[in-house]
Amino acid sequence: MKKQYAIGIDLGGTYLRIALVSEDGEVVQKIKIPSSENIVESLQGSIRTLLIEGVIGIGFGIAGLIDRQKETVVESPNLPRIEGLDIAGILRNTFNLPVVLENDANVAAMGEKWMGEGKPFKNFVLLTLGTGIGGGLIYNHVLMDIAAEIGHMSIMANGERCSCGNYGCLEAYASGTAILSRAIKSLEDAAESAVRESCKGNIYKLTPEDIYKAALDGDTLSREILRDAGRYLGVGISNLIHVFSPDALILTGGLIGAWNIFIQEAIKEASRRTFKQLFEKVSILPSSLGDDAGILGASHLVFACQRT
Ligand SMILES: [Zn+2]
Repeated sequence: MKKQYAIGIDLGGTYLRIALVSEDGEVVQKIKIPSSENIVESLQGSIRTLLIEGVIGIGFGIAGLIDRQKETVVESPNLPRIEGLDIAGILRNTFNLPVVLENDANVAAMGEKWMGEGKPFKNFVLLTLGTGIGGGLIYNHVLMDIAAEIGHMSIMANGERCSCGNYGCLEAYASGTAILSRAIKSLEDAAESAVRESCKGNIYKLTPEDIYKAALDGDTLSREILRDAGRYLGVGISNLIHVFSPDALILTGGLIGAWNIFIQEAIKEASRRTFKQLFEKVSILPSSLGDDAGILGASHLVFACQRT
């Protein structure tokens, strides 16, 4: 029998990743572009480039809350322009292929279970730490059909305003956006920091990587910001462990590059706050798939649907 393939799409707040993936989990070819204004045109163009004979469907992970019945994105604080758009219908009509829609972090959790660090674990939580914070939950080896909007769990009753409109969400304290806005605010208030040089004086062009690099070089402000964000993340992690008592917590997304300060602080804070027996049984580890978790999980959706 001829090998089958799927197109796996991972649409996040900052990047759109699309790949051609084989049924045995090989990423044959992939494209990574900024999540532009013209999402539909970008998607159609990229899919055309990747299509080959043997593609049986398109799996699509999107940053946002998905209505699986209506196949639309109900709410997406980081991608408001796709809310309500019949994106699955558009792609189905364009390419005459089945299209399956899922939340991006849920899809990344599937990717980890299929090909990554999640393979040996019966129950695990996947946390995506990037522009926003997302989550996916594998329970008894399968993806739980729940929202898992971990980034919007409140950790502060009267806290900072979040992009979702609520106050005190984890995402408003420990995401890339939160780290950046805290740095920009401090720099606007004339705080001393080596990070000013890395963005050539334009503080609005800062990236979380600039802050991490400055922190590694000993910059006090950057270290303080990452440690604070890490402590808040630790509060969120502790809540997750108390609720789900998972075997593992797998962390992915751009911010895990700052493991040595940000994540270590989070683990320290979580260990302080969590029941000892629960904390000791959790493995907290970085994803080994990195950027590929989403595209792999999205492709797996297609192969899994075909088998059921
Ligand atoms: Zn929120």
